[in-house]
Amino acid sequence: MVTGVSISCTAAPTTHRSTLGPSPGLVMIDPATDLPFFYGSISRSEAEQHLKLAGMSDGLFLLRQCLRSLGGYVLSLIWNLEFYHYPVEKQLNGTYCISGGKPHCGPAELCEFYSKDADGLVCTLRKPCLRPPEQPIKPGVFDSLRDNMLREYVRQTWNLEAEAMEQAIMSQAPQLEKLIATTAHEKMAWYHGKITRTEGERRLYSGSQPDGKFLVRERDESGTFALSVMYGKTAYHYRILHDKSGKYSMPEGTKFDTVWQLVEYLKMKPDGLVTLLREACMNQNCANQTPTVPSWRRPRGNGYTPPPEVPGACKIPTPLPAGRQALPMDSDEFVSPYADPKELQEKTLFIKREKLMVDEVELGSGNFGSVKKGVYKMKSKHIDVAIKVLKSENEKAVRDEMMREAEIMHQLDNPYIVRMIGLCQAEALMLVMEMAPAGPLNKFLSGKKDQVPVENVVELMHQVSLGMKYLEEKNFVHRDLAARNVLLVNQHYAKISDFGLSKALGADDNYYKARTLGKWPLKWYAPECINFHKFSSKGDVWSFGITMWEAFSYGGKPYKKMKGPEVISFIQSGSRMDNPAGCPDPMYELMKECWIYKYEERPSFVQVEEKMRTYYYSISKKASTDPKEQQEKPAA
Ligand code: AMP
Repeated sequence: MVTGVSISCTAAPTTHRSTLGPSPGLVMIDPATDLPFFYGSISRSEAEQHLKLAGMSDGLFLLRQCLRSLGGYVLSLIWNLEFYHYPVEKQLNGTYCISGGKPHCGPAELCEFYSKDADGLVCTLRKPCLRPPEQPIKPGVFDSLRDNMLREYVRQTWNLEAEAMEQAIMSQAPQLEKLIATTAHEKMAWYHGKITRTEGERRLYSGSQPDGKFLVRERDESGTFALSVMYGKTAYHYRILHDKSGKYSMPEGTKFDTVWQLVEYLKMKPDGLVTLLREACMNQNCANQTPTVPSWRRPRGNGYTPPPEVPGACKIPTPLPAGRQALPMDSDEFVSPYADPKELQEKTLFIKREKLMVDEVELGSGNFGSVKKGVYKMKSKHIDVAIKVLKSENEKAVRDEMMREAEIMHQLDNPYIVRMIGLCQAEALMLVMEMAPAGPLNKFLSGKKDQVPVENVVELMHQVSLGMKYLEEKNFVHRDLAARNVLLVNQHYAKISDFGLSKALGADDNYYKARTLGKWPLKWYAPECINFHKFSSKGDVWSFGITMWEAFSYGGKPYKKMKGPEVISFIQSGSRMDNPAGCPDPMYELMKECWIYKYEERPSFVQVEEKMRTYYYSISKKASTDPKEQQEKPAA
């Protein structure tokens, strides 16, 4: 074991915010970020300087980011007053290894291994050269590049912008990285598909011919690519090598996981080419279809083309590329139906009855009445909706509650929250909402422990935390967060619903004080809600912890058969529910943080979401390094 540092194989959730990327929204976490001897993107001489200052003892070491290969590191080590620098390569299957050495699932695991066994190094890693606290991890050029790649990919694939893009990336970064690794180049303007060398030259020579104008084409033999570049008014052609491990490179150049990364690198370093790559020779076919939205995704927002849908006809799901799991962004419910400006023009709080078709199928019911399936006819499309129908004999109080719910929902627009489409006053008062066809989370998970892996539960709960972070930011309190009120669009897409008890807080308030007692879900409520009727986002955090418990126990009932008052004294005495069987420890730790008695000491949703995300990313990364999974699932 390395002296003085603990290197754990299971990535614990961390509050560490990565230094990477320009956007505060997107946080990509380098797996070495938590290692106290990781310095980020420092040069060889800077590394040597740090090692000198730390005393040059045998086995003194540090880890730094490799400047030449994406995702790789360099291990700098002292032996006999000399420096040794070992590149650590990230393999296509996600493992890390020193040339000729054994693969390891992460940089921490690799360092731990070499602390016990030199296995070809000059000596074992004995003493970490710790990064001084005042020195932040230095971000590398590729960190922002990776961020940009994700953005560009999401923009082009789902036509998402701004907040919707941030949400998409934050909730799906591991899956997106995998997709990018295999398909990203196809979306780039410089990629011309399968064309001959002569056609490549014709395209380069047409128009201006500055040095560094370039294109990438697929060669005749499928799967291999060539780079054609202008220099001194002459076209040069280079074969892009594709080695057995799946890496792309120039002959004897740096190896990359994707063609896109290689091209970006060649814009910065010639790596044996006659010139740096500068200007993309635009693929006109690609420009004609701007944005290059694949066939499985309909364009949204500006340039919206309505799908030819017939009312009442069975909706045929648009097929996804083979082997690819559906992501939330593939669902129509990811962005508001009013994201299309043409639809927005028509938006009114009260919608016309003739535009609404109410099905007899009941999705659920409550004391207000029933929730029915339906279709709403918009200007350019028909959408499936869920309609909360108020029973006519209901008293005014219930009607008022429904109106209040509508008023709250009207102000919210987030992919992880059920959106309201509008209200309709006709044979009854109807609240029209987006449809979440897979139903409540507790029912969905119940009895499915064998079918729904725990990683899937983490993914869904991370999405709930994103929705709750949005509510916290907008100063709304939900007051009824529970697994029954998390509805699923599908197995990988959750939305928060039921805003019947929700409140908007005043700009200067951080809690809502309930004047009257209601039918409160006590088992989901924090002590200050029950004792002092004070409702803040911290109270919702407590409920989030209970919802997590319900989810990780696959629809279990919290506090078993205890009655409300018993639960209150159970909590008061310092007891908390046990970890559900099979629930990962970091998730149970987070639940317990959500159940900290004093609300001032409880984390906020900003913190909860970050912890959920860190853990979710860490297990997604691990899953991709699992050789079994590699075999079973075709690369996305
Ligand atoms: P609520 O009173 O809002 O809890 O709704 C009662 C039940 O109706 C829920 O448990 C769901 O089964 C169903 N439901 C409510 N809203 C929706 C929706 N937007 N999409 C699908 N089902 C819904």
